[in-house]
Amino acid sequence: MSAGRGRRLARGGRRGCLPIVAGIVAIAAALWLFWSFRDKLAPPPALKGKVLYVHAIDVGQGDSHLIVTPERKAVLIDAGSAEDGPRVVAFLRRLDIRELDLAVATHPHADHIGGMGYVLEAVKVKSFLDSGQEHTTLTYRRMLEAVKKHVGRITIAKAGQRFILDNGIALSVLGPRQPWLQNVSGSDLNANSILLRLDYGNFSMLFTGDAEDETEARLLSDEAPIDVKALKVAHHGSRHSTKELFLRAAKPEIAIISCGATNRYGHPAQATLDRLRRAGVTLYRTDLHGDITIAANGEGRIVTTARQAADADLWRGRRPEASNDSGDDLPGRPSGQ
Ligand SMILES: [Zn+2]
Repeated sequence: MSAGRGRRLARGGRRGCLPIVAGIVAIAAALWLFWSFRDKLAPPPALKGKVLYVHAIDVGQGDSHLIVTPERKAVLIDAGSAEDGPRVVAFLRRLDIRELDLAVATHPHADHIGGMGYVLEAVKVKSFLDSGQEHTTLTYRRMLEAVKKHVGRITIAKAGQRFILDNGIALSVLGPRQPWLQNVSGSDLNANSILLRLDYGNFSMLFTGDAEDETEARLLSDEAPIDVKALKVAHHGSRHSTKELFLRAAKPEIAIISCGATNRYGHPAQATLDRLRRAGVTLYRTDLHGDITIAANGEGRIVTTARQAADADLWRGRRPEASNDSGDDLPGRPSGQ
């Protein structure tokens, strides 16, 4: 009897444990699920309605910006250097963008068009906008060949052109215009960069390529509509543009500088950062923040970045590798980049 009772008791004991074990397993599974998906469970910064995205892709010392509209129209402005092509394409793939409605080469320097050939090979591009400035480099010739092969024809940018991306979202060409700016103090190719203005409700953004001082002076004398909420700072924050008069007219609330953590030009220049700080902008830099995204729904906007940046670093310029006490561009100024 004692043996039989003992077995019954043992069975009864195991039965009593089962709900407890099941409970522990269920709690552990719930915790595992929570930790596994906690990022997905966290509510994304909410912007209601139709959202437009502007991405500054971190391509190091170069430029590449992507506009994606609520109806999934996509515009790529520059594609970084040749080695950045795969990075730009990976960025497009991550957003599941299989075709670009428009690709723009602001001007024919390698840190803007080097990656374009790779992009054209990998992604369907419907239209291609070029500044119309010819260049003698192999990089430029290769890009033209890739455009001929994959797009067919090139549209030359002219101030006054307007691309309607979605209902209520427009991309306007503010420059260059004829006659070309010539014999400027820096680079003529930079000075005649394509200048674009994006508009969506109360959000607006200016893309300036590698504009020079003379480019800004022309925009001001033309009374071009440069008053915007966000500014893609010209020429990686070079001291030769983003001048005071220009900032006073543009009145940006947000400014984005695209530059490399190491670059021999000393971009961004301390003088430019000081001007931007005095203008009261909220500043973002790809060398510190990595990829930067502005989301705008026509009323509000949210800026997100891949990394955080300390305020002290944000307003500190870089020095060129060559010894130059001015802390700005190399003596004699680089003609390219
Ligand atoms: Zn550049």
